[in-house]
Amino acid sequence: MERHDIAIIGTGPAGLEAALTAKIRNKSILLIGTPELSEKISKTHSVKNYLGLPETDGTSMSQAFKKHLESLGIEITDDRIKMVYAMGKYFSLQGKNTYEAKSVIIATGATSGKLLEGEAEFLGRGVSYCATCDGNFYKGADISVISFSKEDKEEIEFLASLANSVTVYGKNDDERNFSAGNIKTSGEVPARIKGGMKAQGIETESGFHETAGIFIFRDDISAEKLVPGLEMEDGKIKTDRQMRTNLDGCFACGDCTGAPFQYIKAAGEGNVAALSACQWLSRQD
Ligand SMILES: Cc1cc2nc3c(=O)[nH]c(=O)nc-3n(C[C@H](O)[C@H](O)[C@H](O)COP(=O)(O)OP(=O)(O)OC[C@H]3O[C@@H](n4cnc5c(N)ncnc54)[C@H](O)[C@@H]3O)c2cc1C
Repeated sequence: MERHDIAIIGTGPAGLEAALTAKIRNKSILLIGTPELSEKISKTHSVKNYLGLPETDGTSMSQAFKKHLESLGIEITDDRIKMVYAMGKYFSLQGKNTYEAKSVIIATGATSGKLLEGEAEFLGRGVSYCATCDGNFYKGADISVISFSKEDKEEIEFLASLANSVTVYGKNDDERNFSAGNIKTSGEVPARIKGGMKAQGIETESGFHETAGIFIFRDDISAEKLVPGLEMEDGKIKTDRQMRTNLDGCFACGDCTGAPFQYIKAAGEGNVAALSACQWLSRQD
């Protein structure tokens, strides 16, 4: 598997600027996120405080950002990272696919999601965010999915190909038209996850539903769940002025490091994070 110099997670202004800077410094980069770029860019009607663009809107900004990436031959790997593991000499990133990089820049924006009761407690003990990483542990089992994600169909169907049955909570529409017959939609909202040494089931209004394993899918995963061991402060990633986190080789930039939530601050931090990563890499060599 190719091991990149720098993996950058997130295609908002922070991640894009980090990618541009790292590319200009001749690093092999992997920019992961949606090729449509951050919704916080495209959905903005009017932007008045971005240097050099006195009167612009999200669509124009988005087009300008894409053109800038193209001019440097930067491609976006369309994936959503579920877990980042520090492996000692490199980082392993798990999404639909697995990637490796010597260093990593987290540029995933601010997350709003409130965790379910029991979610943090049982994470890694019967609760998982990653079908690719943990699906195989549940071959032939009756498992559950709690989904708040817009793009969960492929993940749920992958789990159904391994498990005996999959019960889906959270999103109760049936627009997904699952092809597998062993997927059923519960129609109930999960209240909490309960268990002992490990998660044993989901409580809803109608009672307690036992299950062998629980997968939770969200469009935004909080940084501390994405990268185990990452130090947080008031819900944001703690960094120094070089955008270094507490994990060696791991940097963060943009809204995920805290206020002010602004394009130019995010892009500026992306630049600093990339330069710090380059400096860190040269010390490793
Ligand atoms: C309606 C609105 C109007 C705004 N107007 C202004 C304005 O006029 N001026 C201004 O300066 N700021 C404005 N902002 C704030 C600005 O949008 C943010 O500060 C800026 O987008 C932050 O950039 P970022 O790169 O840190 O994060 P984001 O733009 O949030 O980008 C993060 C990206 O990472 C992706 N991501 C998250 N997790 C993962 C994962 N696990 N794997 C892969 N990808 C992932 C997300 O999908 C997203 O694409 C506005 C925000 C909103 C919502």
